Amino acid sequence: MHTRRQIAMQEVINRKPVEPRIEKAQVSTYFGKHVFGVDAMREYLSDEGYKAVTEAMEKGVAIDRKVADQVAACMKAWAQSKGVTHYTHWFQPLTGTTAEKHDGFFEPFGNGRAIERFSGSQLVQQEPDASSFPNGGVRSTFEARGYTAWDPTSPAFIWGETLCIPTIFVSYTGEALDYKTPLLKSLHALDREATEVCQYFDKSVSKVIGTLGWEQEYFLIDAALYNIRYDLQQTGRTLFGHAPAKGQQLEDHYWGSIPERVLAFMKDFEYESHLLGIPVRTRHNEVAPAQFECAPVFEEINIAVDHNQLLMDVMEKVAIRHHFRVLLHEKPYAGVNGSGKHNNWSLATNTGKNLLSPGKTPKTNLQFLTFFINIIKAVHDHADLLRASIASANNDHRLGANEAPPAIMSVFVGEQLNAVLNELEKSVGTRKLSPEEKTALKLSIGKIPDILLDNTDRNRTSPFAFTGNKFEFRAVGSSANCSGAMMVLNTIVADQLHQFKTAVDGLMHTKKLDKDDAIFQILRQYIQQSKAIRFEGNGYSDAWKTEAQKRGLKNIPTTPGALDFYMSKNVLALFERQHILTHREQEARYEIFLETYTKKIQIESRIIADMVNNQIIPAAIAYQKVLVDNVNGMKQIMPASIFKTASEIQMAVIQEISTRTTIIQKSAEAMRQERKKANALSSSRKQAEAYCTRVKPYFDSIRYQVDKLEYIVDDQTWPLPKYREMLYLR
Ligand code: ADP
Ligand code: MG
Repeated sequence: MHTRRQIAMQEVINRKPVEPRIEKAQVSTYFGKHVFGVDAMREYLSDEGYKAVTEAMEKGVAIDRKVADQVAACMKAWAQSKGVTHYTHWFQPLTGTTAEKHDGFFEPFGNGRAIERFSGSQLVQQEPDASSFPNGGVRSTFEARGYTAWDPTSPAFIWGETLCIPTIFVSYTGEALDYKTPLLKSLHALDREATEVCQYFDKSVSKVIGTLGWEQEYFLIDAALYNIRYDLQQTGRTLFGHAPAKGQQLEDHYWGSIPERVLAFMKDFEYESHLLGIPVRTRHNEVAPAQFECAPVFEEINIAVDHNQLLMDVMEKVAIRHHFRVLLHEKPYAGVNGSGKHNNWSLATNTGKNLLSPGKTPKTNLQFLTFFINIIKAVHDHADLLRASIASANNDHRLGANEAPPAIMSVFVGEQLNAVLNELEKSVGTRKLSPEEKTALKLSIGKIPDILLDNTDRNRTSPFAFTGNKFEFRAVGSSANCSGAMMVLNTIVADQLHQFKTAVDGLMHTKKLDKDDAIFQILRQYIQQSKAIRFEGNGYSDAWKTEAQKRGLKNIPTTPGALDFYMSKNVLALFERQHILTHREQEARYEIFLETYTKKIQIESRIIADMVNNQIIPAAIAYQKVLVDNVNGMKQIMPASIFKTASEIQMAVIQEISTRTTIIQKSAEAMRQERKKANALSSSRKQAEAYCTRVKPYFDSIRYQVDKLEYIVDDQTWPLPKYREMLYLR
């Protein structure tokens, strides 16, 4: 008889690469074919309709009903030409995934006949029965209506046989119930404040957009193995598993050659992504075995976020065709590198300039420095909020451990720019600059582009690093919706730029300073005030933890603590001031994030108990019985003098199995009692804390015993695919 594990392993061994279903053509010939983008709109819309939609996209101008009707009719015609029968409003509730409810275009009109219809009102607004999406109490169930409303700034697309319309999701009373609503508001705030500041340097700037280039890390596992690991299926990570003899210590996987089966999968999902207009361009192996990364060319943030959400969905669906499962979890395997989603972030003007890329003249360099320093100041002042924005039960496994950015927020700028900031800090006083000083400063600023050219400084241990022409927020989790982090970053920078503008204008008025003098003075103050957040050393080291504490930087390793920052007075005021989220909305989100945390730990805890009782202990006992029978047999045939020594090792294993299974069973029961106590607590904050500090510690102690059992129990008997089997793809 074979165990399920043996059968699954046989399946894995027999696998062949699956032929990708792609066109043999250059990407440019089919890129965006499934997007209702500029080309499709030109073809299908009237001039008036086209103008209205592009204005809505660029300037946020509202679209009137007549135009909406026309756009809907054209979208439908375009989609039908590609065989589409259904449409859906596609939105991003706070569950972290995307939601869709498909409706057919067809409408019966009597006599058993039907026509296809899609009106402006169906395009613009829908009322999904949304009572089962998390709402944090904003919307009580008797008033279960939520609305989705068209976001014309992100183009509609066809996925599968469905026309998908990106939308926001709000309650009946207008409160945000999703990720997109506050993101759009933050982009608006960023545009407003950054454009104001650009006016100091370049009057032709009338719009600033945020740009995002994410890098998606993920693991692949063969579907046959995944299907018999309940922990992976239910929680996205392995709750047990002995470390393999060969993990990533040889560092032979990073950028190694990509296995054929994996490459076929990559080609397939990249092709699907390209049809959807997602500009994925880079693929490679990551540090851990069976870990990979893909990255697109950067885009405007709202679109980049939608594309990332869509990509995760595409990957999961395409993987199934290749008999793989994609693991987007931040930490699928203990002791093996986790997955992140680096968020490369910058600002671009309508004049085509990247504001974080120093230019050729002192003036554009001063503009660069202005944005650069303001961003550092914003991160300094709102480090807590940034920390909260990346908090999740999954991400706790990375941020706490010494292999990903630490939970302490800091900014890395590189040795050269560090020197520029130090020089600037020293050289300008609170007085007016002499002409010589100004020249000297401008000269040193003028050197910035050269500095950056040969600035190969790469600090991989920093959560927030400047990388030459953008900041890279590295602490974002691989399964997260980028919106959470991006909304916070946009908002704190917008608010900071506003303060800067006010301060500079103030100095120009009160002290009659000229513009450059005023800018230099304020920047100098900011450099001083935000110094504590700048760190160039090893973020993984214990020395940094000590140093950070001295600097007054917080180190909050777990989610419940980090989420508290969301409710601080400063944060609530900031969100209100910038019109991103009201107090009530923020409170609702806080509740939702706490509940999500609690549920995740609760599920993991239950799965642990299930697996221990149904799989681990029975396997251990089965093996123990084999040994017991054998020892009994030996006793019958052997003289007593020989038997004692001959059975010694087996007796020890029999003993060890008893000891370990007893501890496991007792711990599982104790954990259940803690769960019961936690469930009885009245507030979600207290529940989350109890799950974090009283339930979760059992995970490690139970796992320790299980992994020891895996080590001693016969390989033939062990029911769960082992790390060495799951992590090696051929
Ligand atoms: P590397 O960091 O490996 O040298 P790049 O700098 O080209 O590679 O880009 C890494 C990621 O940063 C890519 O996803 C890319 O799209 C993104 N990126 C590059 N420039 C910008 C920008 N101005 N704004 C946002 N993201 C960017
Ligand atoms: Mg990177």
